[in-house]
Amino acid sequence: MQYSKLLAIAAALALPGAAHAQQTGPDMPRTKAGQEALDILKHAVSVPTVKGRGNVPKLAAYLKQRLIDGGFAADDVHFEPIGETGYLTARWPGRDRSAKPIVILGHMDVVEAKPSDWERDPFKPIVENGYIYGRGSLDDKGDSAVAIAALLELKRQGWTPARDIVLLLTGDEETDMKTTAAAAEKLSNAGLVLNADSGGGLLGEDGKPIAYGIQAGEKTYADFTLTVTDPGGHSSRPDDTNAIAMLSRGLAKLGDYRFPAQISPLTKAYWEGSAPRTPGKVGEAMAAFAADPTNKQAADTLSAEPEYVGIVRTTCVPTMIHGGHAPNALPQSVEANVNCRIFPGTSIEEVRKRLGDVLGDGAIKVAYKPSGSIPAPESPLDPKVVKAVTDAIAARAPGVPVIPDMSAGATDSMFFRAKGIPAYGVNSTFMKASDDYAHGLNERLPLATIDPGVKQWEAVLRALAK
Ligand SMILES: [Zn+2]
Repeated sequence: MQYSKLLAIAAALALPGAAHAQQTGPDMPRTKAGQEALDILKHAVSVPTVKGRGNVPKLAAYLKQRLIDGGFAADDVHFEPIGETGYLTARWPGRDRSAKPIVILGHMDVVEAKPSDWERDPFKPIVENGYIYGRGSLDDKGDSAVAIAALLELKRQGWTPARDIVLLLTGDEETDMKTTAAAAEKLSNAGLVLNADSGGGLLGEDGKPIAYGIQAGEKTYADFTLTVTDPGGHSSRPDDTNAIAMLSRGLAKLGDYRFPAQISPLTKAYWEGSAPRTPGKVGEAMAAFAADPTNKQAADTLSAEPEYVGIVRTTCVPTMIHGGHAPNALPQSVEANVNCRIFPGTSIEEVRKRLGDVLGDGAIKVAYKPSGSIPAPESPLDPKVVKAVTDAIAARAPGVPVIPDMSAGATDSMFFRAKGIPAYGVNSTFMKASDDYAHGLNERLPLATIDPGVKQWEAVLRALAK
């Protein structure tokens, strides 16, 4: 999940930290659905669904039972095993079975957590100080549980969707993404994907809502291996073809190089939405760049900010290097890994070729190293989806702007977007910048977001499947 851009807005605003103590009691969910969400989340955190531990099927079995108990037909809830993991689908048949389904997307797996590093056991749900702590409480068991609770609540209310709603919970989003690739194949007739694993709301440190981000695109992740080989020889007899020196010259050029600034309908909307609430020259640069993407000064100002450089252009940086085999020998080979985050719409091959040009030495071989990530276009900002989300946000946080967002990190949405199915990150969590511990230590979800989160999902689904 990606909160970085919203966090950057908060940092820029330098909100005063009115740290008032939170009690466990007042923030506990009060609605039946909210309590159900917390109950499901607690159980989900207690199952360590880390890669290699084979626990995803156990969590899926629990969720399957909860869904069936909540009114899903047993035949409509299915776990598809893939290796030690797999994905869960639960289909809610709509009134019009021929209409393209809405997919609600989340993931059951979590990033590894080392208990000795944590203040609390990462795989024991602990409710304390207005939070639920535990690995996955935020990414992505939290909002998956909230979305499930919303579905069960809608069932209790006797509502029926106009078209099928399919809940899809994948089992290796944090690692190989094979379950998502398979599920996207299976659900390739989907009309729309609502992803619980990206997007979300930002609270100031005073607890007041600032903005809500709806994620409609993400950059393509790509690693390239740069290699130089040479016959080598004795280091007392150097020649002009030292492999380490050759690669170093190329990497120095890459360090100085900037890919061209780019803008898309999505990032234009992002810059326009963010400019008014970003003070100083950065805010001015956002407005100037949105108005004229050839404005080099504006692009440079934004590129100087680590939070924004990824939205301005494709980036490629060397991240690892290995070379040589002995202190007294000319190197026979040297290899570097260059990690790129590619602006949607640019192909991996275009970037590979550009890297070759920038390195400027045919002796440096550039090879793409597949990782499971695939390129995907951004999703057009569908007015129906934007309105449904904006209305739902207006109900829980009046006056808070909804800002479209492109994330620099990858989510499961890419597999659907690559098939031309629009996907939007609409996570219902509102939290402070200081609460974002996704993938980190002491991951936590604010309890106060659960009740309004359930209502947000309900409202969005009612609007989009009516
Ligand atoms: Zn996630």
